[in-house]
Amino acid sequence: MSARYRCGTGERGGQMINDLRCEEVIEKLLDYLDRELDSETEQALANHMETCRACYSRAEFERRLRARINEAGRAAAPDSLRHRVRALVERY
Ligand SMILES: [Zn+2]
Repeated sequence: MSARYRCGTGERGGQMINDLRCEEVIEKLLDYLDRELDSETEQALANHMETCRACYSRAEFERRLRARINEAGRAAAPDSLRHRVRALVERY
């Protein structure tokens, strides 16, 4: 998967999408997912993603990634602790 997303200019007859560039959307994406933006900015991002497939998939990707990290974090913590305890027990 390429790390760079380029879009916005040139699409739709050169019309800028909601005056937000993809770089700005990516920059605010984490706050957007955390719902920490003011409603105006949040709406602007949502609008941008409706018309910009690259940013939309980027947001979806981040969202899924975070969900997985949350799950993994919940599942992994007790597990790694158990391993550590077992390692200690086996040493003595
Ligand atoms: Zn975009």
